[in-house]
Amino acid sequence: MPVEREKYSRAIEDYLKIIFELLEASGRVSTKQIAEALDVKPASVTGMLQKMSAFKPALVNYRKHHSVSLTPEGRDIALRVIRRHRLIERFLQETLGFSWDKVHEEAHRLEHVVSDEFEKRVAEVLGDPEFDPHGSPIPTRELEMPEHSQKPLSELDKRERAYIREVPDEDEGLLLYLEEVGVVPGARIEVLERSPYDGIMTLIVMGQLQNAVLGPSITRRVFVEKKR
Ligand SMILES: [Zn+2]
Repeated sequence: MPVEREKYSRAIEDYLKIIFELLEASGRVSTKQIAEALDVKPASVTGMLQKMSAFKPALVNYRKHHSVSLTPEGRDIALRVIRRHRLIERFLQETLGFSWDKVHEEAHRLEHVVSDEFEKRVAEVLGDPEFDPHGSPIPTRELEMPEHSQKPLSELDKRERAYIREVPDEDEGLLLYLEEVGVVPGARIEVLERSPYDGIMTLIVMGQLQNAVLGPSITRRVFVEKKR
């Protein structure tokens, strides 16, 4: 049975979303990572995790000093918020003309307040899009996360070619740079140079005059795939 969303606060939705995303990225998640991602004190994270694990039904599985996981209820709430976030980003860009570096902040506010009906209409108007403007997959209406590439750009070797699939969505300055050098979802790239010590990569981007130079903190969070 779907969980009633009205019962949960914005803070809880943010926690569940970040836990889901961290789990997707690395398979496990610690209180320290959550604290860093949400920019709060580890003690607040512990308190919130205890609260969410005591909910009926529980939203997370949590014991002190152990890693955290989501219950099916927690996962559904996380996926619903992620679906809304990504649909709203797409709506802001496509329908309202926002640039891709501005949609994340706006969507982050709206994701907690729009109604089920609003979400449904947005999905219909946009023709049930599969991806947000940054290439992240949009969970389906049934709250399934579509299969998607998880190969980071950082794993490509010199001379390897690939298509950009997904870029991080929260850093406006980075998004402006990526747009300027053409590192956007769908772009075809080739690794021109990879420095062996600090992992800085120089990319040829097809159709662009300028090469893209990206450090490892970025290339680990840009995802690529071999086929378009
Ligand atoms: Zn976003």
